[in-house]
Amino acid sequence: MNYVIPPSPVSSLPVAGSDARFPVRRIFCIGRNYAEHAREMGATVEKDAPLFFCKPADAVVTDGADVPYPQATADLHHEVEMVVALGDGGRDLTPEAAAARIWGYGVGLDLTRRDLQAVAKARSHPWDVAKAFDHSAPVSALVPADAVTIGPDTVLQLEVNGALRQRTTLGEMVHDVPEILCALSKLFELKAGDLVFTGTPAGVAALQRGDRFRAELAGAAVLEGRVA
Ligand code: MN
Repeated sequence: MNYVIPPSPVSSLPVAGSDARFPVRRIFCIGRNYAEHAREMGATVEKDAPLFFCKPADAVVTDGADVPYPQATADLHHEVEMVVALGDGGRDLTPEAAAARIWGYGVGLDLTRRDLQAVAKARSHPWDVAKAFDHSAPVSALVPADAVTIGPDTVLQLEVNGALRQRTTLGEMVHDVPEILCALSKLFELKAGDLVFTGTPAGVAALQRGDRFRAELAGAAVLEGRVA
């Protein structure tokens, strides 16, 4: 192919226990998927109208890498989330069919420029500048779905500098994973390589330069890193 500029490299994530990598196609995120977090943000949960937004695939930061403190913000927030990786796609999927497309799981941070998000909300603007910035999606190595048991009792948590910031079980999600994927597939044709951030529990707060974070999806995935 005779490209006029060099094509971008494929974004990818390591696979736990393997030399292989998972190529990332798109990153979808759901907002307000834990009731207590929606409340702490002064929002209400609308069960019939899940809130979605996207990040670019090249926003991923891999486990162990520094996250550069982003430009244009003085209020960078962490949101720990389970990440679902799709091995197949489709549109207008039933929850059962959607669940069968899951390739694996990880844990990630939906990093947010909270000050810019507050401005966007006040002006009814899109959330892109608050959510879709460079390096805004640190994600652990992925673990294949058939190698782990993920369920309502699975713990999701985040420590910053050794102190617990966020902790929940997945059973607290407003929309479970099959419901999220079903709803997304009615808006987009899902594809292999898509990642889905499944929402954050209460306890979101600021990260400062030098902070070390450790996110964990118990029994499945750990993400560690530092804000540089
Ligand atoms: Mn989030």
